[in-house]
Order: sequence, then structure tokens, then C-alpha cells
Amino acid sequence: MRLIDGKKISNEKKIEIKNKIKKIKQQTGKVPGLATILVGANPASQVYIKSKIKACEDVGIKSFHHSLNEDTAVENIIALIKNLNTNQEVDGILLQLPLPNNQDAQECINSINPLKDVDGLHPFNVGLLSISKSWDEIIERNILVSCTPLGIIHMLQMSNINIVGKTAVVIGRSSLVGKPLSMMLLANNATVIMAHSKTNNLKNLCKNADIIVAAIGKPKFINKDFIKDNTVIVDVGINRTSEGLCGDVDFDSVKDMNIDITPVPGGVGPMTITMLLENTLKAFNNKR
Ligand code: NAP
Repeated sequence: MRLIDGKKISNEKKIEIKNKIKKIKQQTGKVPGLATILVGANPASQVYIKSKIKACEDVGIKSFHHSLNEDTAVENIIALIKNLNTNQEVDGILLQLPLPNNQDAQECINSINPLKDVDGLHPFNVGLLSISKSWDEIIERNILVSCTPLGIIHMLQMSNINIVGKTAVVIGRSSLVGKPLSMMLLANNATVIMAHSKTNNLKNLCKNADIIVAAIGKPKFINKDFIKDNTVIVDVGINRTSEGLCGDVDFDSVKDMNIDITPVPGGVGPMTITMLLENTLKAFNNKR
């Protein structure tokens, strides 16, 4: 088993971003700015927001945090977003998801200026991703795409894992992870199978895959029965159990196989935060 070290790759990327921001500051006196919005007090969301603000500090991005009461009406969240849309110091706007009380966030996301949509969830950016013909086009046009899948592609590339022509099974079809990742793998010339809760023969599909991405949200769901040797496993899951944090892959069951795998923690998670910094820098550069 070979570990794909997301922490190491993300630290290297952070140094690169920090150096670019330092140079921008020397040349223009300006730095990119990221506004974060947290509605309510979900403990996991609070931890994520804190890590994002800390990561901004580490690389020299100015952060503007807004905490809103759990009962804040959608119109008031949208009013704040519209205000941030016109704030010259704010290059990126991140609305921490999920919203409390199972509120649908799409209306709020739609109100974010697509040029400041650093989570890549606005329909405009989702559309740009899906009409892009190649990965080069996505990178060269500085398209703002969802951070977790962007981090996964970066991690695979930095680990010299060949994607071209490979069969990738992406389990999970959320707008945040599964769907955009499938588009990104496709842009990298993989043959993509999008699996979900209604998929038949998931084990067989996985057994024939070169790359498996588990973005399900079910602790240790994928075990050795799903996997053949020489497969690349990307574990996106973050599950809090009585035994602590674990992924969607049963790490102990697969650890003696001849595979490449991202650990939880220390795999996809750190990459996601670093890609948020990358997208904020992109948004800053796109403005100019
Ligand atoms: P989500 O919106 O809940 O989507 C889960 C997906 O899994 C759905 O598409 C669902 O299918 C599918 N699914 C559920 N049960 C299944 C089964 N038995 N077989 C096959 N597919 C099944 O979750 P998400 O937002 O994509 O997140 C997934 C996991 O990744 C969570 O643990 C989350 O915490 C984690 N996550 C981690 C990061 C990170 O930075 N590391 C970022 C985002 C999310 P249906 O569509 O048919 O219901």
C-alpha cells in the first residue's frame, strides 16, 4: 500500500501560493481577500471555518468573517452576499454549507457574483466546467471549480498517477464533490462511471476500476471486497464515529493490498482548504 500524502502536497502548494501573494503585495500593495459566512453554530462547520481562516492567515490572504444567527432568513443572507459582491477588498465569498434547519442553499449561492464564487458552486461556473473541452482549458481560463474535486485532481497529478484512459468509478453524485469531480476526471480523459445509492452491482464496477473515489458519507463502506490490486483509492469521506474520525473506506481491511490510497485524515481534507486559497488567488487575478 502506498499512501497519497495530501498534507505534504497541500503544504507544498500553500508555500507556492504564499510566495505568489507576497510578490503581488510587493508589486501592488494589495492582497486577495476572502469573506466567509457561517450561519448557525454547527460544531463541524465552526471547525472548518476556523481552519479556513487560519489557512488564509498562513498565506497572506485577508479574511472577513461573518457569523449569522441560526434563524437568519435567506433574504438576509442574500443581502449580506450582495453587499460582499460590491466590496472591492473581497475577491472570494464562501458560504459554509450546510445551512441550518435543512435550508436549501442554492438561492444564496445563486446570489454570489460568479467571479467571487470560490467554492465553484454557482451555476455559471458549474456550466463553464461542464462545457470545457480539456483540463488545460479549465486551468488556462482560471475557471472557479469546486475545491474538493480540484484538490483530488491536483493530488493525483502531483503523485504521478496517470488518469488518461483509466476507468474511474466515482461513488456519490453531490454537486459539491461527485458531479464536479466526474467532470474533472472526464476533462483529464478518464472513462468515468458515476455511481450512487441506486447503482446496481457497485462491487463489480469497483472491482473493474483503475481509480475509485468514495464520496458517500458512510463510515468504512468500501472494503477489500470492492477492490483489486493496483487500484488508486481516493477516500473523500469524513465521518465522525464513536471510535473517532474515519473515511468511507475501511482502511484496515485494505491496507495490506497493493494499492495507492489517500488517508483520512491527511488526504483530501487538507487539499480542499488549500484549493480554496488557490481559488481566492485566481479570483483576485481574474479581476485584473
Ligand atoms: P452527500 O451530498 O450526502 O452525497 C452522498 C452521495 O453518496 C449521494 O450521491 C448518495 O447517492 C451516495 N450514496 C449514499 N449511499 C450510497 C450507497 N449505499 N451506495 C452508493 N452510493 C451511495 O455527500 P457529499 O457532500 O458529497 O459528501 C460525501 C462525504 O465526503 C461526506 O462524508 C462528507 O463529509 C465528505 N466530504 C469531505 C470533504 C473533504 O474536504 N474531505 C469535502 C466535502 C465532503 P444518492 O444521490 O442516490 O442519494
